[in-house]
Amino acid sequence: MTATTAASAAYIVAGLLFILSLAGLSRHETAKAGNGFGMAGMAIALAATIGLASRSISAIGITLLVAAMAVGAGIGLWRARKVEMTGMPELIAILHSFVGLAAVLVGWNGYLSVEANAGVQTEVAGNLLGIHSAEVVIGVFIGAVTFTGSIVAFLKLSGRIKSNPLILPAHNALNLGALVAFAVLTVFFVIEPNLVLLTAVTVLALALGWHLVASIGGGDMPVVVSMLNSYSGWAAAASGFLLGNDLLIITGALVGSSGAYLSYIMCKAMNRSFLSVIAGGFGNEGSTGTDDRDYGEHTEISAADTAELLLDASSVVITPGYGMAVAQAQGAVAELTRHLRDRGIDVRFGIHPVAGRLPGHMNVLLAEAKVPYDVVLEMDEINDDFAATSVVLVIGANDTVNPAATEDPTSPIAGMPVLKVWEAENVVVFKRSMNTGYAGVQNPLFFRDNSRMLFGDARERVEDILRAL
Ligand code: NDP
Repeated sequence: MTATTAASAAYIVAGLLFILSLAGLSRHETAKAGNGFGMAGMAIALAATIGLASRSISAIGITLLVAAMAVGAGIGLWRARKVEMTGMPELIAILHSFVGLAAVLVGWNGYLSVEANAGVQTEVAGNLLGIHSAEVVIGVFIGAVTFTGSIVAFLKLSGRIKSNPLILPAHNALNLGALVAFAVLTVFFVIEPNLVLLTAVTVLALALGWHLVASIGGGDMPVVVSMLNSYSGWAAAASGFLLGNDLLIITGALVGSSGAYLSYIMCKAMNRSFLSVIAGGFGNEGSTGTDDRDYGEHTEISAADTAELLLDASSVVITPGYGMAVAQAQGAVAELTRHLRDRGIDVRFGIHPVAGRLPGHMNVLLAEAKVPYDVVLEMDEINDDFAATSVVLVIGANDTVNPAATEDPTSPIAGMPVLKVWEAENVVVFKRSMNTGYAGVQNPLFFRDNSRMLFGDARERVEDILRAL
C-alpha cells in the first residue's frame, strides 16, 4: 500500500469517526462518547496528514510543523482548562475567528504561489487556473466574513460591546450591495487575477462579516453562534479545495451543514426567520430595548419562606438560566431536587432552547450535577404544565421567562416562545438585582402578584434553602 493510499484510508476512517461524533453529540446520554469519536478522528487525521507531508517536506519543515502543533495544542489545553463554563461561548467564537483567518491565509497563499507566480502560472492549464482563482477568492471571502463576524460575536458575548443590534441606515441594501460587489469582483478576478482585486474582496468581506453580526442583537445571538460555526465549516471546506485535502472538504462540509441545521432548529424554536438572521437581521428595523415603563413594585421573599413554600408544594418546576451558570449553582440545585423528591414532591426542570449562552448550556450543567435525565424536559414538553404547578423556581433565568415576548409586540424579544412560568401558583425568582438579562429588556414577571424575588447569589440562596429544609 502506498503512503497516499494509506492516508486516504486513514481519512475515510477519520471522516466516519467525525460522523459518529456528530451523531453522539446530538443526545446528552451519548455526548461523551461523541466527543471521544471526534478526538480519535482528529488524532488519526493529524497523524495521516503529517505522515503524508513528511514525503514532500524537508525534515526542518516537519520539525517546524510539529513544533507549531505542540505550541498550539499547549495553548488550547491551557485555555480549555482555565475557561469557566460561562466563558465557553466567547471561547468558541474566538476559535471560529481562527478558522476564518486560516482560510484567508490559505487563500492568499494559494494566490501568491500560483496566480502571482508567473513560473507556476504557465504550468497550469487555462481552465484549471480559472477554477483555482475562483477557489482562492471564494475561500478568502468566506474566511474573512467568518473572521470579523466571530470577533464581533466574541466582543458581544463577553460583554465588551453592547449586544443591541447596530442598525445603520439602509443596512439591508449595504449587505445586498456587498454580495453583488463580491460576485462582480469574483468574475473579474477569475478573468484577470491580480493583487488589487483580491485585496478589495478581502476588505469587503471583512466589513461584511463585521456588519452582519453587529446588526443582530440580543435574543438572536444564539443563532449567530451556531451560524458562525457553520461559516467556519464552509471556510475550512473552501481551504480543503485549495489545498487538495479531501478530509478538510468532508469535515468542513459536516461542520458547515450541521451548524446551518442547528441555526435552523434554533430559529424555529425562537420563532425567528432563518433568512432574516443569516442576512444580518434582514427586515429587523431594530428595537433598541430601552423601556422606561413603570411596572409597579416587586415583592421579596426570604430563603426560609421559600423553603416553607416548597414543603407545602405538590409539584415544583425549576427553570434555570444563565445566572445558574454564573453562580455555579447546579450542584446545590441538584441537591435540592433530591431532597424534595425524597419528600415525595414532584420536581421537574423546564429547559428553554436558548437558556444560558450556548445551545445545550443548561443540559450540560445539570448532567454534570447528576440530575436524572428523565426529569429534565424541553420547553415544549413542559409549557402546558405550568398552570397546574405549585411553585416555579426561576434560577438565574430572565429573557427565557419574560412574558413580554408573548404579550408585548413592541418588545425586542417579541415572538420568541418563552417558558410560561407566570401561569404557576407561585414563582420565586433567584437573582442578585433588578437588572435586565442578556437582551437588555425589563421583565414584567418580577412585578406580578404571584412572583417573589429572592435576591443574592443563586448558589448561596439555594444552600440557604437546603439548610432551612
Ligand atoms: P439572561 O441572560 O436573560 O438572564 C440571566 C439572569 O441571571 C440575569 O437577569 C442576572 O440577574 C442573573 N444572574 C447572573 N448572575 C447571577 C448569580 N450569580 N446569581 C443569581 N442570578 C444571577 O438568561 P436566560 O438564560 O434566561 O436567557 C439567555 C439569554 O442569552 C437569551 O437572551 C439568549 O438569546 C441569549 N443568548 C443565548 C445563547 C445560547 O446559545 N443559549 C447564546 C448567546 C446569547 P442579576 O444580574 O440581577 O443577578
